[in-house]
Amino acid sequence: VSPEFSLIFKQIAPVVGSDPELVLGIGDDAALVSLPEAGEQVLAMDTLVAGRHFFPEQSAYDVGWKALAVNLSDLASMGAVPRFALLSLSLPQHLVMDQQAMWVSEFMRGWQAVAQPFGVVLIGGDTTVSPTLSISVTVIGYRPASSRAMLRQSAQVDDDLWVSGSIGSAGLALALLLSGEMPTELLAQALHRPLPRIALGQALLPLVNAAMDVSDGLLADLSHILHASGGIGAELYWEEIPMRVEVKAWADADAFLPLIAGDDYELLFSASARQRDAIMQTAQACQTPVTRIGRLTAQSGMKVIKNGQVLSLPSRLGFDHFQS
Ligand code: ADP
Ligand code: MG
Repeated sequence: VSPEFSLIFKQIAPVVGSDPELVLGIGDDAALVSLPEAGEQVLAMDTLVAGRHFFPEQSAYDVGWKALAVNLSDLASMGAVPRFALLSLSLPQHLVMDQQAMWVSEFMRGWQAVAQPFGVVLIGGDTTVSPTLSISVTVIGYRPASSRAMLRQSAQVDDDLWVSGSIGSAGLALALLLSGEMPTELLAQALHRPLPRIALGQALLPLVNAAMDVSDGLLADLSHILHASGGIGAELYWEEIPMRVEVKAWADADAFLPLIAGDDYELLFSASARQRDAIMQTAQACQTPVTRIGRLTAQSGMKVIKNGQVLSLPSRLGFDHFQS
């Protein structure tokens, strides 16, 4: 067998598991999946490029983990139940054969560490060679058709603004690594092994108006919600934004650092004040902390308030591949 097929049928196909709705998985020209009776299919795709989204020397396990996790985060923000994934691997030639097999095995170990608990089955993909290591993943999930949508465009004036988990840990880990320092284990985990908020996303569906996942930076992603919801605005209370102590210390240099760093993969959502108790109970049931960090306003623009003062916004609100 060719090296490509050896990778697919030795390192990938044997570890992916099965699913009652999967009629035909890896091995033919395309996969066959039976359709559920009702509901909507939810699909998303994200690409990770070595040197842009992860360090080229990053462990294959972490890359496999993150490649799937960031995709599932997009499904989480839609309240979807993840089901299947497609994986396109572009491997550099210099990862010669033995190493390629080892790299892909480790990649799949990290992938499965996320896929298994969330019940995601890899049903196909593509394997090719490219000068730069890159990974594209498509994820497929379902959402009950009866549920209301948590779209970016459905935020309402006077909604509370909430965020899950804590913000800025991955950003601090990256900043430390870029300056040649070692982040602590906890910070490194936030950067390399994010956990998609799948359970929380599904549980929030009936309670929330708008939601998205924070990948480019809290402020940048919030601005997408505000823009999509008709140019409304937001007030953020800096002290309320959940951050680890070391992230707060990092923010002594610049209060915006954690808010523009990105890679958080937390859920940012807006909901009517009437839902406060229900949201707190839901979050507790999902064992995922959530925090109210601000509110949405009829007046457009974002106001970040710290110590009772409105901070002037930085020119760059988050990560943008076409500006850096
Ligand atoms: P084709 O020639 O029809 O494009 P390929 O040779 O690319 O098929 O792939 C053979 C089979 O292996 C297909 O079922 C495809 O979905 C699967 N496959 C290829 N690469 C991957 C991968 N990286 N992950 C999962 N499945 C893969
Ligand atoms: Mg192909």
